[in-house]
Amino acid sequence: MIDIKSMTLEELKTDMAELSEKPFRAKQLHEWMHKKLAESFDEMTNISAALKEKCRQRYSYTNLKCIRQQESKIDGTKKFLFELSDGNVVESVWMKYKHGNSVCISSQVGCRMGCAFCASTLDGLARNLAPSEMLDQIYAITRLTGERVSNVVVMGTGEPLDNFDNLLIFIRLLTDEEGLHISQRNLTVSTCGLVPKIRELAEKKLQITLALSLHATTDEKRRKLMPIANKYSIRELMEACSYYFDQTGRRITFEYSLVGGVNDTDEDAGELIELVKPLNCHVNLIPVNPIKERNFVQSEGSAIQAFKNKLEKNGINVTIRREMGRDIDGACGQLRRRHIERSLQ
Ligand code: SAH
Repeated sequence: MIDIKSMTLEELKTDMAELSEKPFRAKQLHEWMHKKLAESFDEMTNISAALKEKCRQRYSYTNLKCIRQQESKIDGTKKFLFELSDGNVVESVWMKYKHGNSVCISSQVGCRMGCAFCASTLDGLARNLAPSEMLDQIYAITRLTGERVSNVVVMGTGEPLDNFDNLLIFIRLLTDEEGLHISQRNLTVSTCGLVPKIRELAEKKLQITLALSLHATTDEKRRKLMPIANKYSIRELMEACSYYFDQTGRRITFEYSLVGGVNDTDEDAGELIELVKPLNCHVNLIPVNPIKERNFVQSEGSAIQAFKNKLEKNGINVTIRREMGRDIDGACGQLRRRHIERSLQ
């Protein structure tokens, strides 16, 4: 079976020819899937019963089942737990900001990157998500909230650049005029730093924002937090980021999760400044969200502020990430993990 929601309009046109159908049928199907966000072929009122039947024979139609929804009483953030057709679950987050609604999606079921502070990676990688399954998270949330999504961040469970080909198809479909038509500039992809893939992405010359999870200023410290640092040095990473900027003109976002007593000293701030200064970038400080499986603690509020001030004084563009949905298992992968734990009990 072909996953119809992961096909581009061009591919669908070619495939319609194989079914001896006119090309405009492809456009109609595409519109039902990616604009009207239909949940099945049954909803497609201008498609004949005969063609619907042909489609059911030939294509699979992905759909997510929302099995849990939590809403933050603090800021209205919503977390969704979705079940995929094979029974796996993924989580996505909906955040309301003044400038529009943002959705944070997962790119894989689980993750194999092994970052020490992250809940998503505790059980390893189950599988990649198809482009359709990444889109479905946005489509399902649009239907459930009844509100338009304007920004998408690929910062949920998974390493997007470890699912590179599917990520590119997803971006193409999401930003397509024939779909939700979300601007590339309103899309952020976050990576732990797969250097060759950052370079490959740069060469696509997309206008998306690349966020790089740095979290430490020396290779030695980074290796303790992120196994990927054994593979690529910070120097190679910085060169790849600079290449990304040269190719795309897009400013890099560096993510730096502050962990109490690990990477939050004045010296760390100084080293971070030296590292990122030569680049056209933005630094996003994330107070670490402690997970019960590991004993990392959040930095003191005063340490966070001092860290930020030092960066600012040195002309670095810096923000502290607002902690959205703190009361609803905000940290990556926590909701899914709770669900898996419960089902094992
Ligand atoms: N694999 C991608 C995207 C996943 S997570 C990446 O590594 O960038 C998005 C961001 O949240 C990353 O910067 C990640 O390191 C960070 N993160 C994960 N768990 C966290 C936690 N418990 N507290 C703070 N930041 C966390």
